[in-house]
Amino acid sequence: MRIFLSPPHMGGNEQYYINRAFEANYIAPLGENVTEFENAIKAFTGVKNALAVSSGTAAIHLALKVLGVSVGDKVLASSFTFIGSVSPITFVGAEPIFVDSDKTSWNADPNLVEEAFKRYRPKAFILTHLYGQVAKLDEIVSLCEKYGVDLIEDAAESLGATFNGKHSGSFGRIGIYSFNGNKIITTSGGGMLVSDDEALIKKAGFLATQARENFPHYEHYEIGFNYRMSNIVAGIGRGQMEVLSDRVKRKREIFDYYRSNLPLEFMPEIEKSVGNRWLTTALGVEPEKLRLHLETKNIESRPLWKPMHLQRVFKDAKAIVNGTSEELFGCGICLPSGTEMTTEQLDLIVATIKEVL
Ligand SMILES: *Cc1c(COP(=O)(O)O)cnc(C)c1O
Repeated sequence: MRIFLSPPHMGGNEQYYINRAFEANYIAPLGENVTEFENAIKAFTGVKNALAVSSGTAAIHLALKVLGVSVGDKVLASSFTFIGSVSPITFVGAEPIFVDSDKTSWNADPNLVEEAFKRYRPKAFILTHLYGQVAKLDEIVSLCEKYGVDLIEDAAESLGATFNGKHSGSFGRIGIYSFNGNKIITTSGGGMLVSDDEALIKKAGFLATQARENFPHYEHYEIGFNYRMSNIVAGIGRGQMEVLSDRVKRKREIFDYYRSNLPLEFMPEIEKSVGNRWLTTALGVEPEKLRLHLETKNIESRPLWKPMHLQRVFKDAKAIVNGTSEELFGCGICLPSGTEMTTEQLDLIVATIKEVL
């Protein structure tokens, strides 16, 4: 049996909520599951408004749209992230500018962020909380205020992580979460926008449903998208929200297990924060050698994200770099972090890693 990096882990009630939608024939359009999934996210994160959509990438696209980012604008983004975080910048015709990480958080370096704000005056900043550990929010939130830059928190990987007791995703003007297949909770595919600003979420909901004006017939004054989450998929989300806290706890146990059993360096967790440890990431290995060796035992692992400023597709993009993300990419690896793993499986992974250290 293969040990996957971060497979789905159902809580038990997902099927029940899906069945309810079938019984009411609310297969479509929106329905109780969508509303209750949004309510569960609001209650959990403490953010006042939420909108369930078809993916985290769609959520970021909508965030940029409702903040008025368009052709010719500059958008700063963490370079050390997944492509879905930044491709929406190009969807709206804006220019992506990348900022490197610092060694103490692996997330955007506040000093470089300030340099980028001064030099490029971006309209918005998409800040990723990598692998479920939060960025230096104290510094970054005040820089965004000082320079008048709209903060979009990409909390796709960090649902359940907190800073100063407040949830990641609740610090920016808009936060986004992803429920893609390997995230800490999944709906098989989906995303969510959150904001305390009701008007922004209302506008996002309007754009997510083809920008349909309020008439009995189909009337359109602007172009929208088809980005809403289905009521069936949202049923999975409702069930998953019931076990989210357990998943965070188990992810952190898995991290502690690796850390106490392997002589490696691990991703730090900054002061005043509690990460969700979505993926345990370790340094001090030869990533490809270790990955291939783990494959011999049918164990999945993966290199760290390749920084965006090193991607061919962004070869012409501006970037403020210090070498950190490139260095981490060269010597780090993501280890299996599935919350259903047994101690026996963890022991097997640890023993297999030790064979090549
Ligand atoms: C997964 C992910 C996304 C995109 O979410 P999808 O739901 O897959 O579209 C965006 N940013 C980061 C950092 C992610 O890990």
